[in-house]
Amino acid sequence: MDLRALNSSSGSSPFAAQLNAGFANLKFRGFLERDFRDVLIEQSRVRGRLAALVLIGVLLVQTLIEWAVAGAISIDTAILFRFVIIVPGLALIVAVTYAPRFRELYTRIAIASVSVLGIAVALKAQTAAVEGNYYMSAGVMLVIVCACLFPGLVFRASASIGTLLLASYFVSGLALGTSLAPLFYTFAMLIATVLISLLASYNLEHVLRTSFLETRLLNELAERDGLTGLYNRRMFDDFIQRIWRQSQREEQPIEIVLVDIDHFKIYNDLYGHQAGDDCLKKVARCIASSAKRPFDFAARYGGEEFVLVLYGPPREHAQTIPEQIRRDVMELAIPHEGSTVDNIITVSVGVALSTPTAARSLAGTIQIADEALYEAKRAGRNRLVCRDAEKYEIETGNFRVAARVPV
Ligand code: GH3
Ligand code: MG
Ligand code: MG
Repeated sequence: MDLRALNSSSGSSPFAAQLNAGFANLKFRGFLERDFRDVLIEQSRVRGRLAALVLIGVLLVQTLIEWAVAGAISIDTAILFRFVIIVPGLALIVAVTYAPRFRELYTRIAIASVSVLGIAVALKAQTAAVEGNYYMSAGVMLVIVCACLFPGLVFRASASIGTLLLASYFVSGLALGTSLAPLFYTFAMLIATVLISLLASYNLEHVLRTSFLETRLLNELAERDGLTGLYNRRMFDDFIQRIWRQSQREEQPIEIVLVDIDHFKIYNDLYGHQAGDDCLKKVARCIASSAKRPFDFAARYGGEEFVLVLYGPPREHAQTIPEQIRRDVMELAIPHEGSTVDNIITVSVGVALSTPTAARSLAGTIQIADEALYEAKRAGRNRLVCRDAEKYEIETGNFRVAARVPV
């Protein structure tokens, strides 16, 4: 399934745009890069912990073997380096993986620990090489593979560490006076190891980035209506419950605005389903652009009906935004010869304004908005009916009855 094609109907998505633009340089635009790094660290934490523990284990086993072979441990610089710098560095990686608060430190500590470990092993290998033992360059190889594939490190970091380790190996070899032929041979092998490991690291990161974008895109698609790009009914049902509870806590009013296109069935019959779809998209844009404040929310309620939730609107301006939507739709000037209201597409708007309390129900408020919309239709369409739920409650008692209906 091509997710980019799937998304094309629901308007612009930063995830689809990035998938389309590609990311051969392994870098996303803007906030996507930050989000990806956060997810990468989150996904790599446990594996990073495991990798650090394995490395600590390898160093301990190596020390035990050296002890067994030599019969005693001599506290030389290599041992000091191992237990004063490298093992604590790796232990720090393990500790950070347990503390989400210090998550940002994970990458830095991992880069520092793996680099120091690599330089130490490179130096050790060259010290041994001076004495004619070349087998230790295998250790450098291991650290290079580890640096390039260490969980959570991006390709760029791995490439820098790989270059640093190669340089340390070569320069220390020259400085300590290792024989040139074995030095060049082992160095060539290490370059090949770096290149192969970096290729694997590049491919892995590319796959992880693709999967990150596709997962986000799928989540977005599951929340959106495919035609208009507005949130779908499921998201509305979920959102309205949460915002209702929030407005109860904060004693803020809520405004529920239902917008229904007038004589849309006739429009479809006259102009065809495709024209109907285009019309729905244009009307949806008018409604979406009215949801300006952080907790405002616009959704496709069903068919040719939309809902806009406004959080904490000033009571005296309760009609301003819904009225603006009605006018914006008229300004679209979409011809509708079959309408009895006007010769263009118009909408009817029903509004319920309420300050939620424990005694009031959400279902009751939605019902009031629905009744207001019905009223607007009956009164001739292309108009707005606004009901202040509190007054409505006193006048009709409907609201109280509705309050018994569980939300
Ligand atoms: P009223 O003024 O009373 O609202 O009349 P109406 O014709 O708009 O309302 P009615 O409920 O009778 O018809 C709604 C129409 O909306 C019927 C259906 O064909 C059309 N519709 C619903 N969803 C879509 C859609 O996704 N695309 C298109 N093109 N039409 C749709
Ligand atoms: Mg209609
Ligand atoms: Mg309708």
